[in-house]
Amino acid sequence: MSRSLRSATLDIDLSALRHNLQLVRDLAGGRELIASIKANAYGFGAVEIGGALVDAGVRKLWTGNFDEAVEIRQMGIDAEILLFGGAEPQHMPAFLAYDLQPTVFEELSIAAAEQAAEAAGKRAPVWVKVDSGLGRLGVPVADALPLIRRIADSAALDLRGVYTHLPFGTADGKAWALQGYARFRQLLADLADAAIDVPVTQVWGSSGVLAEMPDETNAVCVGHALYGLTPLDAGVGPARDFRPLIRSLSAAVVRAEASASSGGYAGAAVKNPASVAIGLGDGLRKAVAGAAPEIIMNGARVAVTAFTLEHLMIDAGGEAPALFDRATVIGPDITLDDWARWTGSTPLEFMMSLSGRIPASYSE
Ligand SMILES: *Cc1c(COP(=O)(O)O)cnc(C)c1O
Repeated sequence: MSRSLRSATLDIDLSALRHNLQLVRDLAGGRELIASIKANAYGFGAVEIGGALVDAGVRKLWTGNFDEAVEIRQMGIDAEILLFGGAEPQHMPAFLAYDLQPTVFEELSIAAAEQAAEAAGKRAPVWVKVDSGLGRLGVPVADALPLIRRIADSAALDLRGVYTHLPFGTADGKAWALQGYARFRQLLADLADAAIDVPVTQVWGSSGVLAEMPDETNAVCVGHALYGLTPLDAGVGPARDFRPLIRSLSAAVVRAEASASSGGYAGAAVKNPASVAIGLGDGLRKAVAGAAPEIIMNGARVAVTAFTLEHLMIDAGGEAPALFDRATVIGPDITLDDWARWTGSTPLEFMMSLSGRIPASYSE
């Protein structure tokens, strides 16, 4: 891999990932922890994060992205790679060829998985997604039993698990999720009555785990919390000691002026204007009107005066930075939460914006 000469660099803290993983494990009790690494591991880098999680003992990775799944498989990672639902039937042979475990919840995909299995001369592992009320993906919970029986009875298919998704952030959402949970639990009871063996059952992601919801399944599938992000509004669950994964996002000062200027991008008098080599093209977002975004320059907070495609303009204030000093855009003192507030987004949305754009390094 060629080394990047880009000025902007993202330093990811793998010890924080391990710390967060341990907290989730403690909360999950004896349940198996499946790690959600969808959307490029929430922007932190699916391949590296997936590799680190497997090194830390995670046995199942779940993603929605076939290309990322294949990249991880080709790294030689010895873990099960599951695919969230929504695949097209014609992709089933490729899933089988790369030893991926797709989600199915309608007849066309189930039949395609059977055909792919017969052509390959092996059984196709599949997961069933149930819609217990979210209305996004899955077989409606009321129709799930016959569909799951159909899969369990198929000689070509290997039913690995049944799951649903009930994410929430608010107190109202929590009450709604409990209702969905009751419907899913009834389905699991019906499956047991029908003597249909389902090895893995899973209902909760980060919100359910963090809010310590009742759980009679044997697995959890967590993304947000592993990455130091919480889906819960303040007060919906107890405060927890999750750590942020970004150790630093920094870039060099590529122009510094030890004098006052007026006009230009800032449009107003600036004491020591400087330009830092990171901009909207790297995934930063403009601050909303009224916000006062800052970065750290030589230990001091300084104001960002403008966002351009490849540069941030700053007012270095009292002390002019030296050319090629490094500015910290995110670090211990300026967090993803600060940027979310300044840009009218959420930490996850801000991370999605940075995702894959800035060369990242990973260290303990
Ligand atoms: C994304 C996802 C998860 C993980 O949710 P987090 O809130 O990130 O922990 C779990 N289950 C399903 C079906 C998902 O799509």
